[in-house]
Amino acid sequence: MRKATVAIVGRPNVGKSTIFNRLVGERISIVEDIPGVTRDRIYSQAEWLNTNFNLIDTGGIEIGDEPLLMQMRQQAEIAIDEADVIIFIVNGKEGITAADEEVAKLLFKSNKPIILAVNKVDNPEMKHEIYEYYSLGFGEPFPISGAHGLGLGDLLDEVVKHFPTLEQDQDDEDTIYFSLIGRPNVGKSSLVNALLNEERVIVSDIEGTTRDAIDTKLHKDGQDYVIIDTAGMRKRGKVYESTEKYSVLRALRAIERSDVVLVLIDAETGIREQDKKIAGYAHDAGRGIVIVVNKWDTLETNDKTMKEYEEKIRAHFQFLDYAPIVFLSAKTKKRLHTLLPMVKIASENHAKRIPTNVLNDVIMDAIAMNPTPTVKGQRLKVLYATQVAVKPPAFVIFVNDPELMHFSYKRFLENKIRDAFGFEGTPIKILARKRS
Ligand code: GDP
Ligand code: GDP
Repeated sequence: MRKATVAIVGRPNVGKSTIFNRLVGERISIVEDIPGVTRDRIYSQAEWLNTNFNLIDTGGIEIGDEPLLMQMRQQAEIAIDEADVIIFIVNGKEGITAADEEVAKLLFKSNKPIILAVNKVDNPEMKHEIYEYYSLGFGEPFPISGAHGLGLGDLLDEVVKHFPTLEQDQDDEDTIYFSLIGRPNVGKSSLVNALLNEERVIVSDIEGTTRDAIDTKLHKDGQDYVIIDTAGMRKRGKVYESTEKYSVLRALRAIERSDVVLVLIDAETGIREQDKKIAGYAHDAGRGIVIVVNKWDTLETNDKTMKEYEEKIRAHFQFLDYAPIVFLSAKTKKRLHTLLPMVKIASENHAKRIPTNVLNDVIMDAIAMNPTPTVKGQRLKVLYATQVAVKPPAFVIFVNDPELMHFSYKRFLENKIRDAFGFEGTPIKILARKRS
């Protein structure tokens, strides 16, 4: 199901990131006990009254060293481009400034629903001071205090009211959604084009999530795929499109809708720090991952090259040890045919369910082979295990005391589960829960 997107706009120091963090909260879920590689605070998921939505803090998108007003203008444009509803925040302690009016003018022209929030209204006496904000022209201003968490419920009630009715993605279950991420110039657009022009591929455009985004549907060997639009593919000539934070935002949005993410590496330039950061986003999001080493045609290869390159990748991307690696050339199309089958395997594993009895047989065999550890005289006891989620697969192992389940033993069990069920291309999550 596609989710609505909300963007927060306003000048610096009005409290955008404070409110973003409040709304995102500590999203405690069973899939979050693995330490993440990255935490990017410009884009996240939030929830209100059982409605999930995406939230963007446009203030976190710095746009070079442009003058302040120009930056704000571009942040507002990003909000208008990316969001279904915009929260416009002003500072209740300072009144309306010229910069607020400037942003208001831009937002006004957008035809998007704009909800005006007056922040830093920390006590009820201040509430009657908010009337001057009607003059911005966005109707009733909502007094809030990000710092104290006041008024946010009323604000969100109003925000949710303006969510568009979102059509369900068609064929959701049988179609594999994937996206390509990677540094500029790794060959994302070239690879998409190569895939679309491959033999026996049937291509059709379908409407994407934002008004001008197009997802591309392709059919190959009996399987439907949808390629989700990424930064590299939407060259519309806007100033902010080349900024790093904006490409991160686009990548995060594409990852969010994907079953499988292709992490592209440029064989010619080799692995860079930025590649790891980008791959970290896909890993954190719990998506299926295939590493694609593109531009394979630029290397002088012999029968050892691939093996050596793989070792290099494994050393750099230890957190992606489950991701298969495909070597290919988007330009010459060499080995291109190996890609989609791998995407399919990753996707199937990402959605795979293991019956409880089979899972427990494997766990008990593993324990018989390598008995549970004893910590300070107390032995870890494993009672039983069960799979609690897919996409990615998550397993809960019930034990006498979760404190006794050390990382290394968890890792051992994870490896046994992987050996038994072959979860190539997907992260899996393992949680220890107390059950006496
Ligand atoms: P941003 O630049 O718009 O993202 O603003 P920040 O979220 O970084 O907040 C700027 C400053 O305002 C910080 O010092 C916050 O602690 C403070 N602040 C944020 N919300 C409130 C609020 O509701 N009341 C008060 N008094 N201060 C706030
Ligand atoms: P993007 O920014 O990631 O979308 O990268 P592009 O697809 O625009 O490609 C960047 C440059 O790399 C272009 O000049 C492409 O022609 C080139 N390129 C892409 N794939 C390959 C490849 O497999 N081999 C070689 N030699 N060049 C490639």
